[in-house]
Amino acid sequence: MDACANVLPRLTQLEIAMTTTLEWLGTATSRLTIGDLVIFLDAYMDRVPSAPPVGLRTADVTRADYILVGHSHFDHLAGAEVIAQNTGARIIASNESCRVMRERGVPQEQLLASQGGERHRLAGGVTVRVFPSLHACTWVMTDSGCGEEEHGHTGLTQDERAAVPGGLVQRITEFVGRGGEEAQLIMQHIPASAGSMNDGGPLVFLVESPEASIFYQDTSGCWTGVLSQLRADTAILAASARANLDGEPIQGSMSGFIAMEAKLLDAKKVILGHHDNWMPPITSGDFDVLPVRTQLARDAPGAALLEARYLEPVALSS
Ligand SMILES: [Zn+2]
Repeated sequence: MDACANVLPRLTQLEIAMTTTLEWLGTATSRLTIGDLVIFLDAYMDRVPSAPPVGLRTADVTRADYILVGHSHFDHLAGAEVIAQNTGARIIASNESCRVMRERGVPQEQLLASQGGERHRLAGGVTVRVFPSLHACTWVMTDSGCGEEEHGHTGLTQDERAAVPGGLVQRITEFVGRGGEEAQLIMQHIPASAGSMNDGGPLVFLVESPEASIFYQDTSGCWTGVLSQLRADTAILAASARANLDGEPIQGSMSGFIAMEAKLLDAKKVILGHHDNWMPPITSGDFDVLPVRTQLARDAPGAALLEARYLEPVALSS
């Protein structure tokens, strides 16, 4: 028999085995499938009733191997306990996220507490590296807009930041204080959802397989010194609130921030997260992707913006 006849089917099998797809599940949550391996990136799908449904609830997830959680707030961590308990998936997340998961009944042996610097093997040929990151500046919700202009609020200490009016917590508190059914539902939803008031120390992840490298970030903050050392075929980048650039609120636009990150990572594909209407009416979901596309074309022309829709698989294999 021709030797090639034996080799080719095996190559095809390997190719199929490593096919990589991403399904966005709203907020900063996605399901990443690499061959047979199922990885959730964050786990928040069970949202307030006023948010558009993402097409999948955590209780309906029957297969998962790992859950990578970027930080401990409820809109990222909640649901990981359900998936972990129903599927046996292991959670890779900060110490704070793991503490919350333990309190919600996830067995210790399913928790891989990480703080940056770790490399975990997820399957044969597939690993994830963990790096420290930063949370978006929710203490100042000034819209970054589309321009290059300065927005201020730099050089402040933590107590000075706490005194800045109009932060996200204040916005939610005022909304809930006004009363009404929607406010009541949000007031019930937040404490019922697994999460922490602390972000727990945000993490970013680099999933690497022979077919693809995927950078995952779930809140708009980055250490440029970290990103400049990494390369990723695909960058999943959060686009929400005032971006945090090396510890200071960005002076300029969200689209400029995203393009800068894509350039540092040398990404070929960019997929946005956290830009949908995940908690109306506090969030609006009217994020305009056009400035991001324009800025990428200008600053990171090698990076294409892929627009993901809930539960629609996006192919990431190169
Ligand atoms: Zn957060």
